[in-house]
Amino acid sequence: MENILQGLNASQLEAVTSTEGFIRVIAGAGSGKTRALARRFAYLVNEIGILPGNILCVTFTNKSANEMRQRIHNLTGDNDTGYISTFHSFCVSVLQEDSHALQYPKSFLVLDNSDIDSMLKIIYEERGLTLRNMTFSKARDMIEIRKLIKEPKYYLDMLNMSLDTLRQKYLTATEPSDIIFYGYLYQEKKCFGLDYNDLIKFTLYIFEQNEAVKIKWQQRLEYIMIDEFQDIDELQYKLMSVLCGYHKNLFIVGDPDQTIYTWRGANVRYLLDFDKIFPSVKTIMMMQNYRSTPQIVSVVNDLIDKNKFRIKKNLMPTIADGMKVICHHADTSEREAMWIAEQIQALHGEGTSYREITVLYRAHYITRIVEEVFLREKIPYAIYSGVQFFNRMEIKDALAYLRLIAYKDDLAFLRVVNVPKRNLGERRIKFLQEYAVKHQCSLYISLETNLDNEIFKGTKAAQFVALIENFAANYAERQISELLAAILNESGYEKMLRTEGSQERLDNLAELKQSVYEYETSCGEESTLEHYLSHIALFTNSDAADNSDKVKLMTVHSAKGLEFPYVFLCAMNEGVFPSKKTDTIQKMEEERRLAFVAMTRAQKGLYLSEAEGRNFDGSPRYPSRFLLDIEPALLDYTQKPQEGLIRETKDYLVINERYLADEENQSSLAVGQRVKHSIFGSGTVVDVDLIKAAHLVKFDNIDTPRSISFRAKLEKD
Ligand code: ATP
Ligand code: MG
Repeated sequence: MENILQGLNASQLEAVTSTEGFIRVIAGAGSGKTRALARRFAYLVNEIGILPGNILCVTFTNKSANEMRQRIHNLTGDNDTGYISTFHSFCVSVLQEDSHALQYPKSFLVLDNSDIDSMLKIIYEERGLTLRNMTFSKARDMIEIRKLIKEPKYYLDMLNMSLDTLRQKYLTATEPSDIIFYGYLYQEKKCFGLDYNDLIKFTLYIFEQNEAVKIKWQQRLEYIMIDEFQDIDELQYKLMSVLCGYHKNLFIVGDPDQTIYTWRGANVRYLLDFDKIFPSVKTIMMMQNYRSTPQIVSVVNDLIDKNKFRIKKNLMPTIADGMKVICHHADTSEREAMWIAEQIQALHGEGTSYREITVLYRAHYITRIVEEVFLREKIPYAIYSGVQFFNRMEIKDALAYLRLIAYKDDLAFLRVVNVPKRNLGERRIKFLQEYAVKHQCSLYISLETNLDNEIFKGTKAAQFVALIENFAANYAERQISELLAAILNESGYEKMLRTEGSQERLDNLAELKQSVYEYETSCGEESTLEHYLSHIALFTNSDAADNSDKVKLMTVHSAKGLEFPYVFLCAMNEGVFPSKKTDTIQKMEEERRLAFVAMTRAQKGLYLSEAEGRNFDGSPRYPSRFLLDIEPALLDYTQKPQEGLIRETKDYLVINERYLADEENQSSLAVGQRVKHSIFGSGTVVDVDLIKAAHLVKFDNIDTPRSISFRAKLEKD
């Protein structure tokens, strides 16, 4: 067992040994907040004799909860590690013990977004709603908002009404939002499901309704500790306030510079105003950084200093000098990825293992090119967040369409025959399967042969077959990139994503098109569709993430709280990082904090890179302002962008910052909104481009979408 108080500085010691009352630690990245939290847990158990089961320790992710449990197990040698969990999973523990207080079964089902979507699908089909009435993402938001604000007592209905009554309410509702809301409550009750918001709300509600249960938990939790407190939201805050109400021992740690979830409702004020809300708060500050080299520390200090809405503080390095932070400008994204691969191989050659290296990025789609190069260069890697590029739903769907053109195979057929909806549901597929078995043909042939059968009346089966036949007739003469773009358009697949408001999926498809285009230009003569499909099949067989010696790939958000010896932060370009959705100064500051979180993960080596080229919409790519924020002398440039590009970037930034500050220029239209233009007539907003400050609108009478500046006010139709 390690000595609990060894290797702590004076402030950490104070944090660990101040066990009673309200304690707040405000401290910088890598200053040992999480270490202090873990040691404090061990101190309570080993030195004071508190039972682990009477301590609640809240972490931000399940991954960090596991790490914390391991740390505490090492410190206390105890297998009972108490409640070390996220707010959500702690609530699951409460509900599993006490949901019967509300007559809800303990074996409830926790619902995630895809479960919610499946329920929405049923509701939309049953009640004849379409995505025009409301996109799924809007419907999810609407349900959430209604539960939180408009009908905070919604669960009274859900609990007290019988399943039948709830169904009646759903079937007799007339407004789409009522239909969806009550349909959802009905579906939830039917499977005894609870979504993420319910977990905390239900727990709070039980505490409110049942004094005995509340007091039981309040008495049980003698000490409460919370990590990453800068990203706490209102519900979590309420829960925490209730839980600490009896013993009044609450210990929180956070760093205002690392607030990165305000888009999801987090509010840093809970951290900053903590002393105004709770009595006799003791505040402990820690500014020494124990994680990164002085070279990295000065770079991150310089970056975060550019935020205006911030309490000034500087991290102070404590560990020995290391190498300078390296910065690389590449001509293309592919060259950027190749440079990263080279650097990694060089590190590996010097004895660094792959698992010590992590590649961080702002958005998932960035991984595609990095993955391709790593596969080619035989660098083992594992993706630690999201799904691997070629395993993503929209990529698989798009490839299934291409496969149908060339092969008409059953798997591809089943994957997309009813995506978008063509009214070819289970019953009809079953019919096709039976026919196919009997006549020993493919499902596609079976459909083609039976188009005139009664069973396909009222479906879009004929259109589907016509679509595929049309493409199959001449695909060998067409470019693959052109085929892909055309089929995604003509099948209605992209339109479906647009109406669902799935921007991330559309971005991934744009990235796929780019990869096909690159494949064509690099293969020349050989670039047949069949060749491409077999080439791409290699990518889909990648194995799942594990702990063996591999480079880690993850988004910045999921790297929160973690540290890695070597960090590559790639695609540091305007429109990627900061994201193109950044339309206010506040959001820009959050992006900068996110960049700060990314860079402060590095211990020994930090590599920043970006690439020239074009964005999906054709606009030129500029280096990220976050690179320009850093004093050039602090960076070791392997290759600098040309003077001309820097000048253009600066010009662009001046315009963009003026735009951020100007409320007039904000868009008030969402994707999917029907609009009217004085000349072009009616249309639908298909994209909002904050960099160009324009709406991309598909007008009903014009074939291709047009960019219309925010200044030209479009009327809602
Ligand atoms: P973040 O803000 O990124 O969550 P943090 O403040 O939680 O960072 P920790 O992860 O606890 O920081 O610590 C950063 C690194 O510094 C860890 O490797 C930790 O073991 C080490 N460390 C913390 N305190 C000390 C100390 N007093 N002496 C030596 N090393 C320390
Ligand atoms: Mg931490």
